[in-house]
Amino acid sequence: MIMNTDILIVGSGVAGLYCALNLPENKNVVIVTKSEASKSDSFLAQGGICVLRDENDYESFYDDTMKAGHYENNPHSVDIMIRMSQEIIGDLVSYGVRFEKNGNEFTYTREGAHSRPRILFHEDETGKEITSHLLSVAKERRNIQLIENFTMVDLICHENRCEGIVGHDKDGNYKSIYADYTVLATGGIGGLFEHSTNYRHLTGDALALALKYGIELRHIDYIQIHPTTLYTKKNGREFLISESVRGEGAVLLNAKGERFVNELMPRDVVANAIFEEMKKEGSECVWLSMASIPEKEIRTHFPNIYNHCLEEGYDVTKEPIPVVPSQHYFMGGIDVDHSSKTSMDRLYAVGETACNGVHGRNRLASNSLLESLVFAKRAAENIIEIYDKSERKSYVEIDAEDYNGYQEKYRQWVLEAIEKEKRSHE
Ligand SMILES: Cc1cc2nc3c(=O)[nH]c(=O)nc-3n(C[C@H](O)[C@H](O)[C@H](O)COP(=O)(O)OP(=O)(O)OC[C@H]3O[C@@H](n4cnc5c(N)ncnc54)[C@H](O)[C@@H]3O)c2cc1C
Repeated sequence: MIMNTDILIVGSGVAGLYCALNLPENKNVVIVTKSEASKSDSFLAQGGICVLRDENDYESFYDDTMKAGHYENNPHSVDIMIRMSQEIIGDLVSYGVRFEKNGNEFTYTREGAHSRPRILFHEDETGKEITSHLLSVAKERRNIQLIENFTMVDLICHENRCEGIVGHDKDGNYKSIYADYTVLATGGIGGLFEHSTNYRHLTGDALALALKYGIELRHIDYIQIHPTTLYTKKNGREFLISESVRGEGAVLLNAKGERFVNELMPRDVVANAIFEEMKKEGSECVWLSMASIPEKEIRTHFPNIYNHCLEEGYDVTKEPIPVVPSQHYFMGGIDVDHSSKTSMDRLYAVGETACNGVHGRNRLASNSLLESLVFAKRAAENIIEIYDKSERKSYVEIDAEDYNGYQEKYRQWVLEAIEKEKRSHE
């Protein structure tokens, strides 16, 4: 089967949805997504989204981002992200997104490696608040068609020009979707790892296709481990204990009940300290105590964490909880410029699957929703600025047999490429 559209977006997290919403209504936009639209990491974001509070905060926001990234960040990307942050928050509020307020003023929280509070939040479900609003606005737009449970398995390429994708629905029916411009917004790679906070279906499919077609990648071994996920022996996605819990005063303890690290250091530093402590003690986890946070604050600011821990048998207002580091975020990805263009013509990449260098070697907490939104908007603006109808002379036949066993093959390609990149740094 064949389908045609003007712009095709692969992925319905914040990056894909916001890119679609920034395209004019006279363009037909198709969004395909591998699972249900509500199953993206964007829905899981707990802590919040950074914003430049005022001009006096610029230098410190910039320095915090660079320092957390070990100064391997792209300075121009960081500047763009910070400078556009207030505009993005204004857009979100206009879509109905609610951030915590005290009277008419926003309330700001803080996470590790931030030198001052500059994070907007909605309880501990900021991602759900933002993404559900973007999704409902996108569903109302007549020019946007959302196709759920459709998995991209290939790009349609001709002489380094992207003409669309090949994919299949959940019954294995294959379809080609042709487009003038294609945007990859397929999120992270947590599904490739045994322990991750990400949805299991996020397996870096766009990276596998980038490897197949020689599309440039950057820093694909820069993978963030989150220091605190709830320790459990159950299988599946690990439950995150947001860094803002530590930002509000929670402390890490070893088996003897002693603190062993400054909890507000960057994520990689804290995760390494936990691994060291676990090794020293021969334990499978360390402990996080919220004793210093007032019970009312826990229940109002962190209701999701409070309830989830209760379901797992821990009352965080009364006892420390066991935590362990897990794979969490992908700083590297498909190499893009400041307009989110990849090295292939008519192909863009946005959100966690892309790498514009904002995060350097380690992402500063709550910068990723912001980065995804900023550079998704820039992709949409660039597509419109240069829009040129694609002249398509032929359509390629799909042979479904070509894709037998693609999942395992793609997984191997991506993991091997990450290992190779790691070795090149040794
Ligand atoms: C538990 C958790 C907490 C977090 N907390 C925060 C936070 O507080 N602040 C912050 O800034 N960031 C946070 N993050 C990170 C942030 O949520 C993500 O980086 C961001 O949402 C990524 O958005 P995205 O649109 O790029 O990808 P996602 O939201 O992951 O969306 C990816 C989309 O691509 C689709 N897809 C994937 N492969 C295919 C394919 N082959 N074919 C079709 N569709 C495909 C998926 O179905 C999905 O719709 C958190 C992440 C997690 C996991």
